[in-house]
Amino acid sequence: MKISVIGTGYVGLVAGTCFAETGNDVICVDIDEQKLKKLRKGESPIYEPGLADLLKKNVTEKRLTFTADLDMAVKKADVICLALPTPQAEDGSADLQHVLEVAKKVGKAMNGYKVIVNKSTVPVGTGDRVREIVLKETKHPFDVVSNPEFLKEGAAVNDFMKPDRVVIGSESPRAVAIMQDLYAPFVRTGNPLIVMDIHSAELTKYAANSFLATKVSFMNEIANLCERVGADVDLVRKGMGTDSRIGLQFLFPGAGYGGSCFPKDVSALLNTSRTYDYELHILDAVKAVNRQQQLVLVDKIKKHFGGNLKGKNIALWGLAFKPNTDDMREAPSLAIIEGLLREGVSIRAFDPAAMEEAKRRVGKSVKLVDNNYDALKGADALVVVTEWNEFRRPDFDRIKSLLRTPVIFDGRNIYDPKVMKEKGFVYYGIGRGS
Ligand code: NAD
Repeated sequence: MKISVIGTGYVGLVAGTCFAETGNDVICVDIDEQKLKKLRKGESPIYEPGLADLLKKNVTEKRLTFTADLDMAVKKADVICLALPTPQAEDGSADLQHVLEVAKKVGKAMNGYKVIVNKSTVPVGTGDRVREIVLKETKHPFDVVSNPEFLKEGAAVNDFMKPDRVVIGSESPRAVAIMQDLYAPFVRTGNPLIVMDIHSAELTKYAANSFLATKVSFMNEIANLCERVGADVDLVRKGMGTDSRIGLQFLFPGAGYGGSCFPKDVSALLNTSRTYDYELHILDAVKAVNRQQQLVLVDKIKKHFGGNLKGKNIALWGLAFKPNTDDMREAPSLAIIEGLLREGVSIRAFDPAAMEEAKRRVGKSVKLVDNNYDALKGADALVVVTEWNEFRRPDFDRIKSLLRTPVIFDGRNIYDPKVMKEKGFVYYGIGRGS
């Protein structure tokens, strides 16, 4: 199949590469020339496990090419996937300017029947708007399909190659047949490809992300309660999660959720519901809890140091919004850094993958160092924000010798409080009675 993917970011690049890996000819389009330059050499502009090798292979074997020429890419393709950003607008809604602008350009470039597949996360009704825009620009037949993407950064290639499910929103049997053909290699083991109407597909993505965000905020509230009543959230989590109706996934408390999806998707769904005169009370609470939770570590640090942090030095481990990615969009680390700087704290920070991104975002206000131990030199405490594997079993004696005072704030509960105590640390976790 001939496929063009417009927008070559976390979703577009992974989707394009995986479609090429299953034998399709794929053209990826982007407006970022720097990105395209790297990609043409077979180099990944993002950190995503397994992506670099797959990308290189498919570029070398000439199934995967990169261009800024949208017109050519549309003309050559049977299927056009939109994987464009839909960031949060000021009023909380999804900003659709990229999707709608590109829809117009796609319409103008049409030269025959095409399936226009929306992989971006977009509010209900966007498919209808895309259809109207394209219709104004062309006499050629086409179908618009909603195919929301459920991959997780940090495991994106694996998620795309082996999805739990594929959702296809379309009322056109012709388009559905093409989508079934395209996704057949990815659903061979019987994982479902669920066909539905476009509105339901569009809403499914928001409902899924909002539900996951709800799980996180719910667990964070339970963790905060655990601290107050003297319970251990880790045990509560196991006791709850082993109920098959609840499940063990996504029940880890921490320093709040972040990333390029949950915050904006929760806001966009709230915005949609308000447009339709319906209050999603639960999601309002999910959002408020998360805002508070992102600063829970700052509150703990402040309390430990007697309410005054002026002149303190803090070592921060982890800047990416989660492990195995370099993405810092809406990362809890940013809220924590802002909170600490406001209190007059100096910060030394390290992340295994997000240092380039960190330079751009906080390079002026935070001292970025070459490894996790360097961050500890002369620090009054260590704060763990992202649960990278390389932070799980560090040399605690070395940590102790480098810190000015042996204090650890563990924002992801990766250390055992008992062991920490035995090793002579003052230890604060989340929801562990301290
Ligand atoms: P991204 O910012 O990583 O990538 C978007 C790309 O589109 C960038 O490379 C940008 O240069 C390019 N672009 C912008 N305008 C363009 C234009 N006019 N023509 C061509 N290219 C253009 O975004 P992302 O994280 O891949 O997200 C894309 C969409 O997928 C969003 O709607 C997001 O909500 C959704 N989504 C993201 C994830 C995720 O984990 N990142 C998961 C599922 C769904």
